[in-house]
Amino acid sequence: MVDPAIAEGVRSVCARFDEDYWRRLDGVRGYPVEFVQALTEAGYLAALIPEEYGGAGLGVSEAAVIMEEVSRSGAHAGACHAQMYVMASLLRHGSTQQKEFWLPQIASGALRLQSFGVTEPDAGTDTTRISTFARRDGDRYMVTGKKVWISRVEYSDLMVLLVRTAPRDKVEKKTDGLSVLLVDLREAIGSGLTVKPIEAMINHHACELFFDDLQVPVKNLIGTEGKGFRVIMDGMNAERILIAAECVGDARYFIDKARAYARERRIFDRPIGQNQAIQLPLARSYAETELAHLMVREAATRFDRGEPCGEQANIAKLAASEASFKAGDLAMEVLGGYAFAREYHVERKWRETRLYRTAPISTNFILAHIGEHVLGLPRSF
Ligand SMILES: Cc1cc2nc3c(=O)[nH]c(=O)nc-3n(C[C@H](O)[C@H](O)[C@H](O)COP(=O)(O)OP(=O)(O)OC[C@H]3O[C@@H](n4cnc5c(N)ncnc54)[C@H](O)[C@@H]3O)c2cc1C
Repeated sequence: MVDPAIAEGVRSVCARFDEDYWRRLDGVRGYPVEFVQALTEAGYLAALIPEEYGGAGLGVSEAAVIMEEVSRSGAHAGACHAQMYVMASLLRHGSTQQKEFWLPQIASGALRLQSFGVTEPDAGTDTTRISTFARRDGDRYMVTGKKVWISRVEYSDLMVLLVRTAPRDKVEKKTDGLSVLLVDLREAIGSGLTVKPIEAMINHHACELFFDDLQVPVKNLIGTEGKGFRVIMDGMNAERILIAAECVGDARYFIDKARAYARERRIFDRPIGQNQAIQLPLARSYAETELAHLMVREAATRFDRGEPCGEQANIAKLAASEASFKAGDLAMEVLGGYAFAREYHVERKWRETRLYRTAPISTNFILAHIGEHVLGLPRSF
């Protein structure tokens, strides 16, 4: 059982940043510097960092509550969620030296670890096809290649980067030959790394990255060279659970908005919420959200106990991302024409929550995981 003080504390930080704050940023592709600072100062973004390194030493169950409350408040959790997800690579595979050096600085907010570079134009979901290459040259790697859709690079100090250190056709298993580097963006941008923002449907600060002999010290290799696929995969369940928690927060946000509007808006001499075509879909959406929430809790509890949770994490992500998009679409319906007015905020959240059916992993691959690993069917890709 997560201490209810965590949800209350997050709510009180979020209450200082109203929806107009998020609407303004959305309009100008701005980054919520003050919000991220406030969450950091309150200690929430260091939830997963062990106490010995200055963090709160909490589990994924608590982190899920934090992300859910951020989303439910109307904020865009995408601005800061990576610090939670990316952490797993460093926590589980970083050397003691790396952890002692980086984690206290991240926990205090002196450094932001908000960026995670995996996706490439020619690889897509087929991660083993990435071609960004890190060539060893003495005590440094020289990185060359291209990434796409990498979020928050302009607002992060550090990036966890997946590269190839051996070509795909020279390794026994296609998942071999991949490595993970911690890139210090403060030094990299303009010195081997060029960043080009992508104009996108949501304010996610996603960018194209071009690497041209970027130098990364070998001491920034996380885990073993050539075994980076495992480093990335180990964080996947936590990532799915936390994204699912955000979706539950989004769904609850939409239901709150739609419910309030359905009670107040009077047409044909009665509140629109009296019509079954409005009321029953809202009730269904509420039920779907509560079911998804149960699965998020189950997956997080198993994760924190160190039990296998792939099935639960994937089902949670599937159920929650569908519940949030359906709740968002329903809120658009309930608010009628006003749903399209930016000052009602619903259209922004509707755009934002749609992402989670596509990224960080699309619904098809969540279903493929369940088909293959839970139902024991032949691998479909
Ligand atoms: C706003 C935004 C922010 C992002 N931020 C980051 C980030 O910070 N870091 C990062 O590394 N990436 C990031 N991404 C990338 C994101 O993770 C990818 O877009 C996502 O994984 C899908 O990859 P793709 O776009 O290449 O789709 P593809 O892999 O090309 O797939 C396209 C579609 O085809 C389907 N498909 C493909 N093959 C199969 C198959 N065998 N069976 C069934 N269906 C299949 C997929 O499910 C999908 O619907 C971001 C993306 C967006 C839009």
